[in-house]
Amino acid sequence: MRIDLRSDTVTLPTEAMRLAMAGAEVGDDVLDGDPTVRRLEATVAGLLGKERALFFPSGTMANQAAVWLLSRPGTEILLDAGAHIIHYEGAGAAALAGVQVRPVAPRDGMMDADDLRGAIRAASPHVPVASLVCVENTHNGAGGRVTSLDALRSICSVADEFGLPVHLDGARLWNASVASGTPLRDFATCAETVMVSFSKGLGAPVGAALAGPAELMSEGWRVRKRFGGGMRQSGILAAGALFGIEHHFTRLREDHQRAQEFASLIDGAGGARVVPPDTNIVMLDLPARLNAFSLVEQAAKAGILLTPWSAARIRAVTHLGVGPGEVAEAAHTIVRMLET
Ligand SMILES: *Cc1c(COP(=O)(O)O)cnc(C)c1O
Repeated sequence: MRIDLRSDTVTLPTEAMRLAMAGAEVGDDVLDGDPTVRRLEATVAGLLGKERALFFPSGTMANQAAVWLLSRPGTEILLDAGAHIIHYEGAGAAALAGVQVRPVAPRDGMMDADDLRGAIRAASPHVPVASLVCVENTHNGAGGRVTSLDALRSICSVADEFGLPVHLDGARLWNASVASGTPLRDFATCAETVMVSFSKGLGAPVGAALAGPAELMSEGWRVRKRFGGGMRQSGILAAGALFGIEHHFTRLREDHQRAQEFASLIDGAGGARVVPPDTNIVMLDLPARLNAFSLVEQAAKAGILLTPWSAARIRAVTHLGVGPGEVAEAAHTIVRMLET
């Protein structure tokens, strides 16, 4: 038996999702449009309250397209020091958009408006000019934490004060919405562009969307093509994403519930501390005598798959592929390891 808590990206398409995909009406989306992709793009634009959304093969490409669209080469973009765009996108901002990333060190786990304000430089011919602010919600590296609507609005008003657009990396905005009760479009309002992912908690095999103003998104269409993200009969993939939105969005609360249970079973065991989860990501901080890499290896031998986040921190993620019994079993196994 294997319980895979490494990520919500390991979710497999369900039988019903596969059926929806197999039956999807398709066309050539690069030539003159695919009807199912169009339906997905309209659905996402509606949910986010944006004029237009574009279906992308990955969240990484959609984020990089947004950085490309909203920044200028030779400027800097400001974002939380733990941002996905900095750590997991192959230095794309530098390689593709030609910008420097400016990691903003948060005082309390996640960048807030004051952290951002403190990082904005006084104008001088010596310093880089800023062109963009990115916010990640939920914040993966901070343990799936939610930036509340109020906190997001404060960040956006600081950005606005300095004439900077905001891109929202909302790979897990679905989780932020379910956990906080804030509609997706309220989060999306103050950002110029928003990325949402279909292949995390929603359980679709592939894909993300980038949403924003119509004119910017027509340029986005061109950038997506340039990056190699034009996909022909992509309605098959879009059908998986639509199925995820329809059937797996509101059930994310179950993942959050399981993360809470997992966290409470483990917290304190052998001196380990859990960051109380806002959503489906649990960060486990180990006492000095334990090493995350060897503990993760030991857990894998017992059939529990986890991600070593650093030498002292382990990440576990709940998702639709793990039921409550499995999550509890994983927690008990980990507790035994922590206590011996
Ligand atoms: C997964 C993720 C992405 C990238 O999405 P992919 O589809 O895996 O490229 C971007 N941002 C965050 C916060 C993510 O968790």
